[in-house]
Amino acid sequence: MTEAMHQILVIEDEPGIRNVLKVLLEAERYRVIQADTALRAEIETRSHKPDLLLIDLGLPDADGLTVIRRVRAWSPVPIVVLSARTMEDQKIAALDAGADDYVTKPFSAAELLARVRAALRRNVRGAKQADTLKLGEVRLDLGKREAHGPAGELHLTPLEYRVIECLARHLGSIVMQNQLIREVWGPQRQGDSRGLRVCIKNLRGKLESDPRKPRYLVTEAGLGYRLRADEEP
Ligand code: CA
Repeated sequence: MTEAMHQILVIEDEPGIRNVLKVLLEAERYRVIQADTALRAEIETRSHKPDLLLIDLGLPDADGLTVIRRVRAWSPVPIVVLSARTMEDQKIAALDAGADDYVTKPFSAAELLARVRAALRRNVRGAKQADTLKLGEVRLDLGKREAHGPAGELHLTPLEYRVIECLARHLGSIVMQNQLIREVWGPQRQGDSRGLRVCIKNLRGKLESDPRKPRYLVTEAGLGYRLRADEEP
């Protein structure tokens, strides 16, 4: 298991939730350290250099967003946010501040662990992206820019490849709509999501067996998109 012995810092002021997270993560053989305040979170991050931060945004001494910004200023460590369902604005602010992903409370164990694994995988790979992806019956070779489906070769436009490549760099994690537009179309197109929506629709037509119920190119309502793959490259 590649994720064995990864160290995770859990930043949460509610002892009940903190304990649930600790039990859950330790059962998966992660090492868990804990912080119950923003101040403690920064101290633990600097002294232990954890592999991942799991952070609640509502902390007693400071906003979790402040912690994310401060840590991001010096560290690329993956950050997964625990957010309440009602705090949509905070979720967006956290991703903008540099968090990699979020899990909505109340969270399911499977969902939380999947997010943690995805964020850790990306960190292991660093800036490198997966070269080949298996999306059901479709196999994508991003290095060669080739795609094959059950009926043979699939033709993707250069723009479509750039969208997939951007999502693949964050495989399993959310990519904000604005980030996709910035990276694929450039900063001058910021705020214009029409091209992206069309591109995603076309990609689903090519890659998904049922484009109306996408399994791999998933919409995160109001935020962006997430690419899932069947197996690790
Ligand atoms: Ca809290």
